[in-house]
Amino acid sequence: MLGLMQHRPLALPHVFHRAEQYFGHKTIVSVEAAGETSMTVAEWAERVRRLATVLDTLDVGADSRVGTFCWNTRRHLELYLAAPCTGRVLHTLNIRLFPEQLVYIVNHAEDEVVFVDRSLLPVLWPLVDKLETVRHFVVIDDGSDAEVPEDPRVHDYEALLAAATPFAGTFVIEDESSAAAMCYTSGTTGNPKGVVYSHRSAVLHSLISLMADGVGLVERDVVLPVVPMFHANAWGLPYGCLLAGSNVVLPGPNMTPQAIAALLEKHRVSVTGGVPTIWMGMLPLLPDHDLSALRAILCGGSAVPKALSEGYREAIGVPLLHAWGMTETSPIATVAVTRSQHDGLSEAERADVRARQGPAVPLVDLRLVDPSTGETQPWDDTATGEIQAAGPWIASEYYRGEGEGVQFTEDGWLRTGDVATIDRYGYVRLVDRTKDLIKSGGEWIGSVELENEIMSHPKVAEAAVIAIPHPKWVERPMACVVVKPGETLTAEEVIAHLEPRVAKWWIPDAVEFIDEVPKTSVGKFSKKTLREKFGGYQTGVPSSAGPA
Ligand code: ADP
Repeated sequence: MLGLMQHRPLALPHVFHRAEQYFGHKTIVSVEAAGETSMTVAEWAERVRRLATVLDTLDVGADSRVGTFCWNTRRHLELYLAAPCTGRVLHTLNIRLFPEQLVYIVNHAEDEVVFVDRSLLPVLWPLVDKLETVRHFVVIDDGSDAEVPEDPRVHDYEALLAAATPFAGTFVIEDESSAAAMCYTSGTTGNPKGVVYSHRSAVLHSLISLMADGVGLVERDVVLPVVPMFHANAWGLPYGCLLAGSNVVLPGPNMTPQAIAALLEKHRVSVTGGVPTIWMGMLPLLPDHDLSALRAILCGGSAVPKALSEGYREAIGVPLLHAWGMTETSPIATVAVTRSQHDGLSEAERADVRARQGPAVPLVDLRLVDPSTGETQPWDDTATGEIQAAGPWIASEYYRGEGEGVQFTEDGWLRTGDVATIDRYGYVRLVDRTKDLIKSGGEWIGSVELENEIMSHPKVAEAAVIAIPHPKWVERPMACVVVKPGETLTAEEVIAHLEPRVAKWWIPDAVEFIDEVPKTSVGKFSKKTLREKFGGYQTGVPSSAGPA
């Protein structure tokens, strides 16, 4: 017997029409090179309708890829809806990728048109002749004085919109499984791989940001996504805001901690989100700003150091809200909210819970699997294994079938490459990425945990731990430490700090002081760069601290 409910496709046109119909009076603030603009959702929606017909005028194919090379701005948000609501596939390009990777991605996705912020033209235009499928470049004039090339392929965004007739009807996507957007992994390993989101996955994932036991976006919120709109759909915040009716503040090109702190204060932002690096930079500025409207600071992309989260709690009463996921998981898979079972805990113990990646959100299934035996591991907070994930917004394969058999299991789960323990309430504690684990004398050392402990030292700004070769133990940990400005620190002090906190054989063999931890294009620690730098480093002294 079948259920007798209407079958309505879960598709992004609903997000657009809901925002237009219910929240036309709400505002979208956008900072651009020329300064700050503010418009209503109604004005924005009218522009989305114009943009929809612009795509037809440019003769962009029915499900062609529409590339964006943009900051977080209102016009990027116009593209976020106009492309998928007309059946095209929004392809957000990471503006910080190396040129070769960018060329690879545009050609691999076969983008037909690329919308580019004028301030970013100097990055994109030198590659133009290598972009094989792009017929149009639409320049979004953000007030920058970057030169706009005289070329028949180049168009002006505002001129196209002004000349367009707004689409008058209701957007319709018949098949909820059709592609809505795509995003390439940042390629920390090998070539970037294309993750293709469907309308259904985008809608379901957006709903999760409205869930109270998570970020819980509501109409009264003012939301500032610091996380780039080219990084895994800004974690679903843009679509989430439109569904909930929250006001939006888009920070544009100036991502300095000073600029972000000023925007948070000025617009009385209640919800924001970004990678730990952003919040590390802003921590010292907190006493100078009135951030009393902030209620949630979503943070993920890499492990959130407990000391950082506690720094926020102590300064403004709001710890960081830790979430975990990846491009392949849309990205939200877990959110570390505390629950009733944590009520009796001390503040320090609750901080430990918040430092975990948290339990899976509804509709996401996780399992812990021993990578060598393939056996499922218990959720006892001790057994470690690779996290595998399944759910309606988890990738089933990469674009053009890449990664088959490697990244996906035979029964269809995603292999995340993240190693973790899970406690009996389902709270994930990420120990490491499989490729960053340090294998010392046959035992694993979790670099993330070690980093966390080092970063809890009050004089440490950042720390990354990598494996270095060792004649006896094969690999040993090396700590690369960045000292806070104006402080001095010795290797002995770092080790003395670790001794009561971690197993003896986890103590790094070497501590190197560096000016900055190198970062990837999405602001994560680039251990690959550190390994390249220190790869030749070998501690000759047999470690007194090998595993028993
Ligand atoms: P890439 O895999 O190319 O680095 P992603 O942005 O998709 O790009 O990164 C996903 C990875 O980031 C995860 O597999 C995980 O290793 C790491 N990550 C994301 N969130 C967290 C978190 N909260 N704690 C620790 N690691 C995280």
